[in-house]
Amino acid sequence: MAAQENVTAFEGQQRVQRVVTSSGRRIDCDFVVVGVGVEPVTDIVNGTGVRIKNGIVVDEYCQTNIEGIYAAGDVANHYHPIFGQLVRVEHWQNAIQQGRAAARSMLGKREPYQDIHWFWSDQYDYNVQYVGFHRQWDDLIIRGHPDEYNVVAFYMQDSHILAAVAINRGKDILRAMSLIKVGVQVDADKLRDENIDLRSLLPGARPIRTLTHRVVPHLVVHPDERAK
Ligand SMILES: Cc1cc2nc3c(=O)[nH]c(=O)nc-3n(C[C@H](O)[C@H](O)[C@H](O)COP(=O)(O)OP(=O)(O)OC[C@H]3O[C@@H](n4cnc5c(N)ncnc54)[C@H](O)[C@@H]3O)c2cc1C
Repeated sequence: MAAQENVTAFEGQQRVQRVVTSSGRRIDCDFVVVGVGVEPVTDIVNGTGVRIKNGIVVDEYCQTNIEGIYAAGDVANHYHPIFGQLVRVEHWQNAIQQGRAAARSMLGKREPYQDIHWFWSDQYDYNVQYVGFHRQWDDLIIRGHPDEYNVVAFYMQDSHILAAVAINRGKDILRAMSLIKVGVQVDADKLRDENIDLRSLLPGARPIRTLTHRVVPHLVVHPDERAK
């Protein structure tokens, strides 16, 4: 761990073998994982008086503080009504849906954009999905089998699900999305219990028993499509 240092160079013959840090330390390695941050480009609204803070700040209708100027997608730092804070996300699903919401607002439809953020990635045999939004949490509930790569982890705050991340468990992500949307309190033991279908935790739902989840890679289906 070298948290206070910067990387100044990579060294090696044919492939990377060492990382050199700002203090001159050399750390042997087999490979390097690089995490690159991004910065939203907001030049387009320079001189307009539009509020900039981690992107272009917009309200729940995707409108800026200046009437007639809207923003959506990666650049928009959007007030999300369900999470009660400004949220800026970078994935295509949001760019598409938020762009549509901004267009609706421009046309005079006052509908807040409150889609629950969701994205996925296939990493070799593993389908990884995330839903919701979390910065901090007071409990982490595990449902399933991490050792079998068949698991979902729920980030909780005051017994509410803020977000969930899953490996090969897309169905649970879709169901968690509904629970996040309604903002219901859920019992941690029920979340853990794989015999309880997450749909039965929705207000007014009847208990539903479920079969143990199988590992099914490539569960890549848009939640909206699966909901139909
Ligand atoms: C390497 C990489 C991998 C990614 N992989 C995934 C993935 O697997 N899944 C996923 O969901 N998302 C992924 N993303 C994120 C996804 O690409 C973005 O969320 C999405 O493209 C955002 O769309 P956007 O329209 O908001 O912004 P952009 O696609 O960035 O479009 C903004 C456009 O505005 C233009 N522009 C900027 N300033 C001006 C100006 N002053 N005048 C005129 N034009 C201007 C830019 O040139 C650009 O063309 C990835 C992104 C990167 C960089």
